[in-house]
Amino acid sequence: MKQPVVAIVGRPNVGKSTILNRLAGKRLALVNDEPGVTRDRIYHSIEHKGFRFTLVDTGGLDLAPSDDPLRTLVEEQSRKAVEEADLILLVVEGTHGPTLGDWRLAEELRSSNKPVLVVVNKLDSVDDFHLAYDFYQLGLGEPIPVSGLYGLNVGYLCDKLVDCLKQNQGEEEGGIAREEAVKVALIGRPNVGKSSLFNRLVGEERAIVSDLPGTTRDAIDTLVRVNDKTYRFVDTAGIRRKTRVRPGLEQYSSMRSFTSIKRSDVVVMVADAQEGITSQDNRLINYIAQRAGKGIVLAANKCDLLDPQVVKTFPPSLLRFIPIILTSARTGFGIASILKNVDMVYSQWRKSIPTPALNSVLREAVSRKALPLYRGKKVRLLYASQVGTSPPRFLFFANYPQGIPLAYRRYLENQLRKEFGFIGSPIWFEFRAQS
Ligand code: GDP
Ligand code: GDP
Repeated sequence: MKQPVVAIVGRPNVGKSTILNRLAGKRLALVNDEPGVTRDRIYHSIEHKGFRFTLVDTGGLDLAPSDDPLRTLVEEQSRKAVEEADLILLVVEGTHGPTLGDWRLAEELRSSNKPVLVVVNKLDSVDDFHLAYDFYQLGLGEPIPVSGLYGLNVGYLCDKLVDCLKQNQGEEEGGIAREEAVKVALIGRPNVGKSSLFNRLVGEERAIVSDLPGTTRDAIDTLVRVNDKTYRFVDTAGIRRKTRVRPGLEQYSSMRSFTSIKRSDVVVMVADAQEGITSQDNRLINYIAQRAGKGIVLAANKCDLLDPQVVKTFPPSLLRFIPIILTSARTGFGIASILKNVDMVYSQWRKSIPTPALNSVLREAVSRKALPLYRGKKVRLLYASQVGTSPPRFLFFANYPQGIPLAYRRYLENQLRKEFGFIGSPIWFEFRAQS
């Protein structure tokens, strides 16, 4: 079998060469303070815990415009490295949040459909590791804090990297292509009916089911193929062999839930239709939308037990944009809708809005509802563009971004949703200053 290839990319000076040297265990590439010193692609064969892979060093993938002809050449080299890679390490600098360059890189890497690990470098003390969480925003999964300079957490990075490569190989052997599988997590409090729903889903007529190793040793993912579409249900071990839960013990096995959410594209949040949404459910929905940035479908299960005379209401606010399906794992009611809604939300979550369409909605919105003054000055919303998908992310430019109140941001979100939908998907906003 061909030795898998890992490419390291990132803006100049974030510490790619330093990390490469750490991984390779010796001083290999030239490290220099001057941005862009590593000019060419260099290959190193590396072994970690008995697993061999090739590491490619690149000159950095910087998408900022530049007149330097050498820069363009370097970019070309990096793109080639990305094309041939099985896994990409995106190195970013952790001492401040993601820059526009990081966003662009993340976007480009996402469209390459390759697995990516986000390596948050220059966190020279464990106390700073929490800064890595800012990079969840890039939508590329769990960011890994390291200090290339001091070798902090580099062992963990190596473990992750090897896990990821092994998982790829397993998937290729599993026979169902990975690109097309929508990753789905089934989340909810104990006893709401997750296992029962899952069994219904995999028991569907014509469903083809196979198990694959997940990220950690005891995690299992289940690939389910229905109607020519593949769904990857993540971390299904606990769901398949029903874990015993003591009645009354109200808890998600929360770490598990969080990992599953992070690994998914769309979360099917299961609630008991009789109980409605608990505050704990609400917090989790909040996390899924605001922090993890995943699509959400809400299944209100056990609807066979609902008294048809009693109309159940769900708390508004957050749930406004989330599709709610009534299901019954007992009777089979609504089961087919689950995957239909997952498909719909998945495509909404990945949707891109062309800049002109976006700005015409923005102009319209601003003309209908004036912005309040900020310290006696007129606030102007100048321009917006979508800077990412999965979830959709929008960058707004204004002369005084701090002068745009929360209520107005909500208003803008509503206008965008009215026009473009984004059903079941969070949409993220960032406001920047520009005069
Ligand atoms: P590259 O251009 O991305 O390959 O970046 P380099 O590896 O050449 O590193 C650029 C600069 O950042 C050098 O001065 C490194 O010493 C410094 N650097 C790299 N990693 C770290 C780190 O973990 N912590 C700190 N404080 N500095 C680092
Ligand atoms: P989990 O802990 O979320 O995986 O929940 P289970 O799937 O184990 O279901 C908990 C209990 O609810 C079991 O006794 C199921 O038979 C029951 N149950 C699950 N779904 C339904 C449903 O749609 N209707 C009814 N009446 N009972 C259900």
